[in-house]
Amino acid sequence: TAKRGGRERFCQFEPELMEDLKRRRFLEADLRRACMREDFEVAYQPVIDPRSGRMISAEALLRWTCPERGPISPAEFVPIAEELGLVSRIGAGVLMQACRDAATWPDDIDVAVNISPVQLLDPRLPQTVIQALTESGLPASRLELEITETALLGNDEAALKTLNRLRDLGIRISLDDFGTGYSSLSYLHRFPISRIKIDRSFVRQLPHDPSSASIVRAIAQLGESLDMQITAEGIETAEQLSFITDHGCDHVQGFLISHPIPATELKQWLEARTASADAATYAASHAA
Ligand code: C2E
Ligand code: MG
Ligand code: MG
Ligand code: MG
Repeated sequence: TAKRGGRERFCQFEPELMEDLKRRRFLEADLRRACMREDFEVAYQPVIDPRSGRMISAEALLRWTCPERGPISPAEFVPIAEELGLVSRIGAGVLMQACRDAATWPDDIDVAVNISPVQLLDPRLPQTVIQALTESGLPASRLELEITETALLGNDEAALKTLNRLRDLGIRISLDDFGTGYSSLSYLHRFPISRIKIDRSFVRQLPHDPSSASIVRAIAQLGESLDMQITAEGIETAEQLSFITDHGCDHVQGFLISHPIPATELKQWLEARTASADAATYAASHAA
């Protein structure tokens, strides 16, 4: 019966597996086409300092709307682009667009761009970054690159060389999704990392889940003692925001503050915030 059970289970699985394979085939073909037509857009999610309320940067997030299937998450299509060898080309487009957009923002607002592990190991990356900075006129000090721990695993030497080169140009590196990968404290020591981004999975259950709370507290302390900045991502509630702020995280991003939005909306968002901050300052200075 065990054998029969196994076979039955296999039969139940098959249609689903076929659907996955079919979807995957279509996406591969569409992605190749999209890459040729440069059918991508970049959305920006504001990152703020929760103490002053000031916007300090925006994270560039890739958006792709497949003509047949609608919007596809980068979490699904970036790995396919990596496998098809398209990720460096798509990533170069994101870097260029992000630098161009950021060059039109006030000069105290930085931009963060996600770099996939495959892209990090592409020897052309430093040149691509230099080109985006040169063509946009954005100072290197306003660009931050987000890498993940996975990118460092097993590729120590190559990754270290590239990251040091980027650091020497004045670009800052942050470690994204911290705590979800093959976290090793030696990474923080070995690589030129200036920011840690606490993954959303630890923020989600705050403030009630004691182990999430301990992890967030420990990462914040680590950041403080290693002189690295800490960003908490995925802030959705006021309770999460106050926990994070009370426990020493420097910066926050999440749906509570803003969803990722198109570049034009970001400018409006920023203007509205600046106007209301000015009004608050004005009111405060005329209160007494
Ligand atoms: P990530 O770099 O960790 O980006 C944060 C993700 O969390 C984004 O999803 C963002 O929309 C989402 N998010 C932000 N705040 C909240 C919140 O409060 N609640 C919830 N539930 N989600 C929130 P998105 O845009 O779908 O991107 C997913 C992942 O795809 C990114 O994770 C990143 O790893 C990758 N990705 C996105 N753009 C690029 C890119 O240009 N290049 C590369 N290589 N990867 C990218
Ligand atoms: Mg990121
Ligand atoms: Mg992240
Ligand atoms: Mg994440």
